[in-house]
Amino acid sequence: MPESDDAIDLLLAEHGLRKTHAAREVLRWLRRHQNRDWAHGELLEALRDSGGIELDRVTLYRLLDRLTQVGLLVCHVDAERVRHYRAVSDAVESHPRFECQACHRNFELTSGATQLEQAARSALKALESVGHHGLSVNLSVRGVCADCSPGAPAGRR
Ligand SMILES: [Zn+2]
Repeated sequence: MPESDDAIDLLLAEHGLRKTHAAREVLRWLRRHQNRDWAHGELLEALRDSGGIELDRVTLYRLLDRLTQVGLLVCHVDAERVRHYRAVSDAVESHPRFECQACHRNFELTSGATQLEQAARSALKALESVGHHGLSVNLSVRGVCADCSPGAPAGRR
């Protein structure tokens, strides 16, 4: 599931970065593809071919540098001195989901999602401060959804 613009914007804002279209798309892409490291050229192609995002080489280099400087990406250099980037994963890995006990739908939360993610992030920071590392959180909320709650405003999620 893609992260919401809000979640990406929040990350950029928290790290003092401008919320440009390119910054959003690159960060979103890397956070969705955290299972491997990406070299600049591979990323450029992948963004274009599957993400539909056309960036010039220099823009992407600058962005990757900035995102690495602020700690949203980690960079490592291989034996051929090629730099590879990966999104930092010690964060909230997926968008909070809601599982309804009545209709058994399982959907991505929009209302309250940002607050849940912020709460989870500060909890992770606290855990890291006492030495735990490599942390991740999967947020899922159970209950009765708005559609199933009698008298609740329709369509509220
Ligand atoms: Zn329901």
